Amino acid sequence: MLRIECPCCGLRDHDEFRYGGDASVMRPAHDDPDPQAWYRYVYIRANPAGLHREFWQHVIGCRQWLVVERDTRNHAIASVELARQLSARKSPARKPPA
Ligand SMILES: [Zn+2]
Repeated sequence: MLRIECPCCGLRDHDEFRYGGDASVMRPAHDDPDPQAWYRYVYIRANPAGLHREFWQHVIGCRQWLVVERDTRNHAIASVELARQLSARKSPARKPPA
């Protein structure tokens, strides 16, 4: 059985979580006119045999979105982070007005 260590709630069975998709795919900018970029975002997945970054939501718990790094060969979980913390680190710093 897959068990996920939620940063807020501790170790829980995967039945409490909902899979949210591939966390390694980057969404194109909202106004990106390139149809190929949107096609790749919606349909193209790597499907690796090994470590894979995935979104999971703790729906029967704190309801937080997590980024779980899971080995697809044996379901071993290498890391779990809150998605909002990861997102905050990747957002460009706001520049003060000139
Ligand atoms: Zn939780």
